[in-house]
Parts: sequence; structure tokens; C-alpha cells
Amino acid sequence: MNNLELLTNREVYKPNKVMAIDLDDTVLDLNGSLIEFHNLKYGTSLKYEDIDSFDLAKIWGCTHEESIRRIEEFLNSNKELKLIEGAFDAIFSLRNKYQLYIVTARPDFIEDSTIGNISSYFSEDTFENIFFTNHFYDKSRKKSEICRNINADIFIDDSVNNVLDVYQNVGIKTFLMDRPWNHSIKNLPNEIERVFSWSDILEKSL
Ligand SMILES: [Mg+2]
Repeated sequence: MNNLELLTNREVYKPNKVMAIDLDDTVLDLNGSLIEFHNLKYGTSLKYEDIDSFDLAKIWGCTHEESIRRIEEFLNSNKELKLIEGAFDAIFSLRNKYQLYIVTARPDFIEDSTIGNISSYFSEDTFENIFFTNHFYDKSRKKSEICRNINADIFIDDSVNNVLDVYQNVGIKTFLMDRPWNHSIKNLPNEIERVFSWSDILEKSL
């Protein structure tokens, strides 16, 4: 077996570095589709740039509980989400250097449709595992707990709370995916680096 075969045969060669990757709005374009759904169903006329807060209740003018219900309603509709631009190529390259894990805040009761959506783009062996932290639900876990358990070296997320949680509790390199809802956050610790695209992530991780 030559070196190239060794490098591409993951049964033989497994990278020893670990990257933990958020799913929604990092790999899959949740908000792009959620806005369309919300505009149609609830009569809003929101654009992507209007989502300037992570708290959708604030954007939609409803209670927190109602916002969770609407997100759940959308996720239960089993709509296939599009990939974030550049995610496929970057992840394809990164898996030669990192063991990749998805760490999503989604509840585990939508595990099947989530895995279905991921496997419509990525082969089964792309990710070592997919963790559901059940944010907003019972038995929720912090993403820092998962990152510690899997010995992550790098963590990527579009949520400021999540990158701060991982940086403060695990102390690893974190990338904040630039999105309208995290624009107002300034003065992040140096170890939290804002990234603007998947090619940006690739360049900073290889
Ligand atoms: Mg996200």
C-alpha cells in the first residue's frame, strides 16, 4: 500500500486531531429556510439580514415558548435544508486532517430526519458521530461537555454563547461563524476567531 492509499483509507489511517462542528447555520442553512417558512406561515416579510439576534422570539415578536414551538413545527416538517456554501468541499478536505464530529443543539427526537438530511450530502463515514445536546429541552448538555469528552482541538459554531462556553470551559481554539445575529458581539477573546466562510475555516485549520 503506498502513502496515498494509506492517507485515503480511513480504516488504516485516522487523523489524531479532532474538530467539533455545529450543524445549523454552520453546515446546514437552517435560518435561510426557516425565514421562508416563517414568512409564509406567519405573514412576516423578514430577510436574512434582519435576523440580528440569536433570540428568534425577539425577531418574531412572540414568547420564547412560542418561538420554540415554531422552530419545532418547521423541523418536524422534514424539510431538507440546503448546505452552507463551501461546506462540502471544506469538510471533504478537513476529514483528512481531523476526526470530524457534529455537535448540534437539536433535540434527539429529530435524530432520524437530521441524520437523513446530513446523509443526503455526506457519506456515512464523514463524521465520527453526531451529538444532540437537547438545548431548550430536558436532559440538555453543554457543547463544552461534548468537546471535552471527544478531546476536541477545534470547535466551530455561529452561537456566541456556545463558543464562549467551549472556550471558557475547555480552552480550545474556537471559530465563530460570522452571521447577522452575532455581528453586534465585539471584543471576543483572541482565541475565538471570527470566520466568514468555509474556505476561511479551511485556510485556518490546515
Ligand atoms: Mg448553529
